[in-house]
Amino acid sequence: MCAYGGDKKTAGCPRGRAWIELHMDNLRHNVEALKALLPPGCELMPALKANAYGHGAVLIAGELNKLGIHAFCVATAAEGAALRRNHIAGDILILGYTHPEDFHLLNRYELTQTVLDYDYARILSRYGRSVRVQVCIDTGMHRLGERWENIARIRDIFYMKNLRVEGIFTHLSAADTDTPEARAYTQKQGMAFRQVVEELGRLGLTCPKVHLLNSDGLLHYPELGGSYARVGIALYGVCSTREDEKQSGVDLRPVLSVKARVSSVKKLHKDEYAGYGMAYTAKAERKIAVLAIGYADGLPRSLSCETGGVLIKGCMAPIIGRICMDQTLVDVTGIPHVGLGDIATVIGADGGTSVTVYDVAEQTGTITNEVLSRLGTRLERMAV
Ligand SMILES: *Cc1c(COP(=O)(O)O)cnc(C)c1O
Repeated sequence: MCAYGGDKKTAGCPRGRAWIELHMDNLRHNVEALKALLPPGCELMPALKANAYGHGAVLIAGELNKLGIHAFCVATAAEGAALRRNHIAGDILILGYTHPEDFHLLNRYELTQTVLDYDYARILSRYGRSVRVQVCIDTGMHRLGERWENIARIRDIFYMKNLRVEGIFTHLSAADTDTPEARAYTQKQGMAFRQVVEELGRLGLTCPKVHLLNSDGLLHYPELGGSYARVGIALYGVCSTREDEKQSGVDLRPVLSVKARVSSVKKLHKDEYAGYGMAYTAKAERKIAVLAIGYADGLPRSLSCETGGVLIKGCMAPIIGRICMDQTLVDVTGIPHVGLGDIATVIGADGGTSVTVYDVAEQTGTITNEVLSRLGTRLERMAV
């Protein structure tokens, strides 16, 4: 029998079936903690892509605006446009591909488009209207960016008629890996990038903004400098893995909790099944609760069959059977007084216990970034 009676502070406040609570005090704490690591002249450029890693981009950006942060990056033009429609101020850099049919969004919403490489630069310039851009340099990630060796092509991008170059940046591919090879690779990327900036300088081309750090870059290689640190995952108070967090040496605090409502409680008799596919059989008489959250909300289906669990009244309730699209079954046999309308903590703390996003990432064989960014649009987001 689990004795803890539940966290009175979180009991019963919000309405709704399943939701995300944003701990804005933790966001403010993380901003301060990361600012303290910034090299001289460097500012935070929070990554708000994928709905701010599932947190809710408008709420997060609004809070960051209040904290005086005025540069952001997103993955898509639609993400940038949505921020503007919700009155988010500051520079917004689109890191990824925008289709030519969407180029009109760039000026309408004052967005800065990344030049993905030389070929993309030509297409963008042919749009025929002046657009704000930053040029991505490939220094070893070998994803987007014009190759750093191609100085002549990079120079030509600066001279393309309709491109107003506001900066150049690169992306570190191994800053998350703590091996001698990875450290050497990161240093090589830093040197290649610096060389491009210097060569452009010799050609009389100045880049107002120059940046290369992501979260792991800022945590482990702040000396590489730059005008911005494009921080995503760390700002949300976690690292990609528990191991990364141990190495980070920074006090980061999770910004998000996920909660779901108990929609029904029932008894199961011995040998009865529950859920799809007869995947769960009661070994004895059990008490189960139905939660109003499912895999369509981003609760990974691979947490099914006792791989994962939630907290109810501060006690662990294992997920039983197969997680459904909109609903999940948990075993609450040992937990007293569980009833309709109670709140389950799917990610977060309840009393002295917690289910962390690291737990969920490990149970499902992925990184925290994926767990967070897949949290669904049906979840209401609210600041607490
Ligand atoms: C997503 C992304 C970031 C942020 O990465 P984190 O590891 O979450 O800090 C920075 N730069 C680029 C180009 C990205 O795609």
